[in-house]
Amino acid sequence: MELTLTVLGCSGTYAAPGGACSGYLVSDGSTTVWLDAGPVTLANLQRHVPLDGVDAVVLSHEHPDHWTDLEGFFNVCRFVTGRQGLPVYAPAGLKERTYNDNEAPYFEWRDVKDGSRTEVGDLIFTFSRTDHGPETLAMRIDGGGRSMGYSADTGPKWSLAELGAGLDLALCEATFLGEQEGEAQHLSGRQAGLSAKEAGVKRLLLTHIWPTTDKERSRAEAADAYGDPVELAVTNERYEI
Ligand SMILES: [Zn+2]
Ligand SMILES: [Zn+2]
Repeated sequence: MELTLTVLGCSGTYAAPGGACSGYLVSDGSTTVWLDAGPVTLANLQRHVPLDGVDAVVLSHEHPDHWTDLEGFFNVCRFVTGRQGLPVYAPAGLKERTYNDNEAPYFEWRDVKDGSRTEVGDLIFTFSRTDHGPETLAMRIDGGGRSMGYSADTGPKWSLAELGAGLDLALCEATFLGEQEGEAQHLSGRQAGLSAKEAGVKRLLLTHIWPTTDKERSRAEAADAYGDPVELAVTNERYEI
């Protein structure tokens, strides 16, 4: 079984026209996890899996561009599929941000934090606190003999190296261009490239780029720092890891 990543949305902070904010499906062929549930990602999810085809949800942090489609998914579980007991892994406190607070019996909220390790089927998640305002968790996902890392949102004081060696693919935020570095706790393409190089990742995929940012410039700046070609995440594309 092979590890795959499907991009449900990759706009940073707000959705580009016709786009979607952060959201991904990670699957080893038998287990599928919805990773971040930003605006419009539920619509795109239905292109790839049935509404009851998700085994767990993992949310990186409480900024709304990373989770608010969970509200629509609660309605799906309550009124459409009747699915109960879906695990939702998130930093403590995120569940209090939601409209229905606890959402039992449909969602089973499970707190995760820096250093947490959890298994969903045969997928193993390990979390690392990033350099970002609210408690934000990057994660390493191991499955099918492969490994990927997801930076979530972070500034440059955190590195992909925190996720350990041997990442076959890093999905890394690149909100800014080089001249915007330091404007907020996010990375530029250049900083994403440096982080990936430091961590020795085999393949770098940029995400969370602002809709107004020139993506090709971001890719070029990242590739220059990384020392190898870099890919841009594309919504509804599937990547074999
Ligand atoms: Zn974000
Ligand atoms: Zn954020």
